[in-house]
Amino acid sequence: MSAPYPDRLDLLRAPAHWQAVEFISDLHLQPGEPRTFEVWHAFLQRRVDKRADALFILGDLFEVWVGDDVLESSASTDQAFWRACADALKAFSLQTPVYFMAGNRDFLLGAEGLAACGMQGLSDPTPLDFLGQHWLLSHGDAMCLADTDYMRFRGQVRQPTWQHDFLSRPLSERTAIARDLREQSEARKRSTANDPSLWADVDAAAARAALLTAGAHTLIHGHTHRPAEHDLGDGLKRVVLSDWDAGAQPPRTEVLRLDAQGLRRIPLS
Ligand code: MN
Repeated sequence: MSAPYPDRLDLLRAPAHWQAVEFISDLHLQPGEPRTFEVWHAFLQRRVDKRADALFILGDLFEVWVGDDVLESSASTDQAFWRACADALKAFSLQTPVYFMAGNRDFLLGAEGLAACGMQGLSDPTPLDFLGQHWLLSHGDAMCLADTDYMRFRGQVRQPTWQHDFLSRPLSERTAIARDLREQSEARKRSTANDPSLWADVDAAAARAALLTAGAHTLIHGHTHRPAEHDLGDGLKRVVLSDWDAGAQPPRTEVLRLDAQGLRRIPLS
């Protein structure tokens, strides 16, 4: 099986003064889930001395992103919501650097969207050199190799020509296409079973291969909505971020913090 990742990865070196970083993913921010937005917004508004030295968003920050013009266009449904997200991030980023890696929902966030949010884009995966070790950061979808339908779809929509064609369409048409795709995806989930444990998971061999390529010992990723820590053998580990849903019982709004003490999950609500 061929590795889903390139052989050469760009290393992100943490500045020497960083003492702690935080990771989040899979917030799936959307206008219909105001409670999740509110918890996240309060998280961003913490005093600077309560923050880590950087925030890493490892994909699916947004439930859907059909082009950066959703922030500007009067034809944009929910433009005020997307704008509020961008403004909150931008304000946060003036004090604390924010890094963004695309997920399978928000991979169309482009240069303008990144700039509006004050975020620096990261390739998937990116090794982070921090605390004298390499940590491999990924969204995780590219390693769910057993979901062959999705891997085929991903291969198509991540091509520049597909994206150029899609983004050339009117905003209303892109919004409609995205809605159809989400409905198909939801229907597929219902037909298999409404149980995340039955959805494709990250392939252990692919995770090990990516870690070895990166010279890293721990993979940190989201996407699967199955927060856990997996031992991959030989000192290699896979740490999975929680998704966010402030309306769930119990609520899921969790940050993963990394400092000299190690990795720690911090629930926000
Ligand atoms: Mn995802």
